[in-house]
Formats: sequence, structure tokens, C-alpha cells
Amino acid sequence: MIIIMLGAPGTGKGTVAALLEGELGYKQVSTGDIFRKNIQEGTELGKLADSYISKGQLVPDDVTINIVASRLEEPDVQEGIILDGFPRTVAQAEALDDILAKKGKKVDMVLNLTTPEEEIIERVVSRRICSNQQCKTVYNVVMNPPKQEGICDKCGAKLVQRQDDNEETIKSRIATYMEQTSPLVEYYQNKGVLRTEEVSQRINHLGKDVADEVVRDINK
Ligand code: AMP
Repeated sequence: MIIIMLGAPGTGKGTVAALLEGELGYKQVSTGDIFRKNIQEGTELGKLADSYISKGQLVPDDVTINIVASRLEEPDVQEGIILDGFPRTVAQAEALDDILAKKGKKVDMVLNLTTPEEEIIERVVSRRICSNQQCKTVYNVVMNPPKQEGICDKCGAKLVQRQDDNEETIKSRIATYMEQTSPLVEYYQNKGVLRTEEVSQRINHLGKDVADEVVRDINK
């Protein structure tokens, strides 16, 4: 089963994807995480990615598509995958369709998350992430703080703030989303695989609720 997480930054794609991975057993594959790991390790890919990510821009399509194409060959994702943050452009979506078609597969569900912009900004600036690559649990210092400040409840590693989680960069990330990624809503709507869910404190509908509803529907 191929599931795609779509939505502006800070809508909860990573949180919902992690919950779905736990419930459904399909791997969550986040292109953002792959880039951040490469930045941390100082690889050539990391240096290239960093020059775009720090400005709130997208890493070029050819680079990103190649990474996902080779990840899709690995044995642990043959039964299913939850793509978190890919595709982000129509060119990426078309490339993904071609790659999947060659394997006799297709995109089964696109989970499109929406959140009011004020809430996105609030959420992103107070987001902290576990620095342990195997854990990566996401906290919010206001809404969902760890028991001990700066320390992950689950594994005890240090919590860090993403370098692009600041008010200035989030504004360009939202603009990039509107320009380059939002056309995918129509793209997948036309394919009949789009499911849109609002994730918002305002209506008391959070990532956990969305994940529960999706799992319930898939297991029906
Ligand atoms: P994320 O962790 O999904 O918020 O991604 C962090 C940053 O990585 C984005 O703001 C982009 O700069 C870059 N990135 C992640 N996924 C993609 C993608 N599919 N295409 C291009 N750039 C990406």
C-alpha cells in the first residue's frame, strides 16, 4: 500500500505518518529526515540540501526523485510505504507515478492535512525533536512538552530545534508550499485518491484523531 502525506509544513504530516507506521506496519519515509541526516553527517548531498532548506526552498527535483527511487527498491518497503514530504511538486508526482507503474503499483491514498496558518506558525516555532535518529519523537514546548525540559521522554536523548523552524523560514516554506506543492491537491483529487483532513486545536481534531480514523477505515 502506498500512502502519501501531503500538506503545508507544520500540519502534522510527520506525527500522523509515525502513528500510521506504528498501526499499519508500513515504513515512514521522510525526505526531510533523509536530508537532515545528510546535513548532520556533512555529506555532499547534505551540503547541497542545506543551501535550499535554510532558505525555505525545495531541494531540486532530480536530486529528490533519485533518492526516493532508490529507497523504493529496498526490501523493507515492498509491502507498503508512507511517504512523508514527497512528492512536493507535480514533476515529482509524475516521476513517482512512473516509478510505481513499472512495479505494477500505484498511489493508494493521499492524506492531505490542513491547518490554519496562525496555528502552523505557533506550532512550528515551539516544535522540538528528539536528536536520536532512531527515535525522532516530536514535542511541542507549549502543547505537548517533555516531562524534563530538553530531554526526550522515550529515549532520554537531547531535544533539538530544527534550524528551519523559525518564524522567518516558516513563512517562505509556506509560500513555497502554496506555489509548488498545493497543485498536488488537484492532481490527486483528479485521480480519486485524495482524503483531506483538518488538523487543528481550534476544532479539537489532532493528528492522533486523523491517524485513528484512517486506520479504522483501512481495516474496515
Ligand atoms: P520536511 O521535514 O518535510 O518539512 O522538509 C524539510 C525541508 O526539506 C523542506 O522545506 C525542503 O527544503 C526539503 N524537502 C523535503 N522534502 C522535499 C521534496 N520532496 N522536494 C524538495 N525538497 C524537499
